[in-house]
Amino acid sequence: MTMSYEVHARIDGPLVMIGFGSIGRGVLPLIERHIAFDRDAFTMIEPSGEFAGLLAERGLRHLQVALVPDNYVDVLTGLFPDGKGMLVNLSVDVDSIEVMLLCQKLGVQYIDTVVEPWPGFYFGSTLPNAERTNYPLREKVRALGRQFPGGPTAVSCCGANPGMISWLLKEALLRLAADTGVAAAPSSREAWARLSMELGVKGVHVAERDTQVSERARPPGVFVNTWSVDGLLSEGYQPAELGWGTHERRLPRDGHAFDFGAGYAIWIDRPGADTRVRSWCPGVGPQFGFVVTHNEALSIPDYYTVWDGDRPVYRPTCHYAYHPCADAILSLHEINGAGMLPEKKHILTEGEIVAGGDDLGVLLYGHAKGAMWYGSRLSCAEARELAPYQNATGMQVTSAVLAAIVWVAENPRAGFVEADEMDHARCLAVQRPYLGSIECHYTDWTPLDHRINRFAEDRDESDPWQFVNFLAD
Ligand code: NAD
Repeated sequence: MTMSYEVHARIDGPLVMIGFGSIGRGVLPLIERHIAFDRDAFTMIEPSGEFAGLLAERGLRHLQVALVPDNYVDVLTGLFPDGKGMLVNLSVDVDSIEVMLLCQKLGVQYIDTVVEPWPGFYFGSTLPNAERTNYPLREKVRALGRQFPGGPTAVSCCGANPGMISWLLKEALLRLAADTGVAAAPSSREAWARLSMELGVKGVHVAERDTQVSERARPPGVFVNTWSVDGLLSEGYQPAELGWGTHERRLPRDGHAFDFGAGYAIWIDRPGADTRVRSWCPGVGPQFGFVVTHNEALSIPDYYTVWDGDRPVYRPTCHYAYHPCADAILSLHEINGAGMLPEKKHILTEGEIVAGGDDLGVLLYGHAKGAMWYGSRLSCAEARELAPYQNATGMQVTSAVLAAIVWVAENPRAGFVEADEMDHARCLAVQRPYLGSIECHYTDWTPLDHRINRFAEDRDESDPWQFVNFLAD
């Protein structure tokens, strides 16, 4: 039986994608279902050719080339001759900021899921750790955006997280308002920030638990993950980084403020993939997560700051609390012990995964009802039924990219935006059919609860929601 799908938007002009990895392969069939585009004006730029057959069988053009500083201007300019079209960048190792700037010059709309630099930033860099964080990258994107108000829409960092998680946060705030009897109809950044303040939200974890397992045991020496291994390694070995709330009393050990920009974040002088926090997810309850740096840990505290002149009077703490799949935890443990990057890498496909799924949501804490998790709970089995070539993690990301494409097509000249600044209701309406169950869970858990035995630790008993209480090592 042939399914029919709602076509949400049309792309006028060439559609070019960069990267046909785990996310690119999942996004393509969603575009074919839900977006009207000219197939003759489609190009996939992908250097490895590993999945070229999938493009050939669809009759779609494949440009097998690696974009590098010397060729990206010529390659991309040649693909957008008429000052229109859309570029969806789902690659690693291609500098997002350079490509965003080029798109403004070419009159082309742009979407990516992460601010990616050219190779050399993440590993083997001579930069001090403070400059290998995402804060300067994001500040650069925002500064560039200010040069192009009303330019072709350029969406920075819109996958699941960063991306969808900002839309779920808005739904979560409205739900918390309804459940606590607070009237809420925010329609501006300032109003959303004031609502979060009024609700007493001290912090937001992007709380994720990936429970997907393969039927094959992970071979020693192979780094296994459910999405880009390169992506996880890159961000995991940047310093830990988090949005810094106004309720926080003291920096964690090795924590540092930034000395430029609006100062909404701090960084910790240790790798995010080796920095554990106590967090909470439905299904498992209390768990450890890693404070892997992410754009949403910066955009959310920036967006939700309430200002009195140039003084921030309210800002929530915000960071990723990521429990990757069990094979990735073992892989991280192995490479942290070895002190070496892996030679062999493998992304688990939907065919290899025999059980589990991905719970990805926001954990809002410190408000009248303690803590609340709100997010998507999707099993790999459900993802397999919903769309081809992706596991549960991929499905949450690719459907967010689809929502971004629709929003950009409907808002063609919005200039530079992040997910916080997009219409969350419209984007979630597009994405919701692919998210499994959207659930809300309240818990009376705090990071001061649950110890197997008591040992010396840095605790602040006067306020359970201080970051030092979450930090586990
Ligand atoms: P992947 O490693 O599976 O694929 C990366 C793709 O980039 C491959 O097709 C590779 O050939 C291509 N590539 C590498 N170098 C290139 C170059 N120089 N020029 C052109 N293409 C090049 O990665 P993935 O899992 O598909 O993830 C893609 C991106 O999405 C990564 O940057 C990742 O961090 C990001 N991501 C974001 C989210 C989110 O929620 N925001 C989630 C998952 C992944």
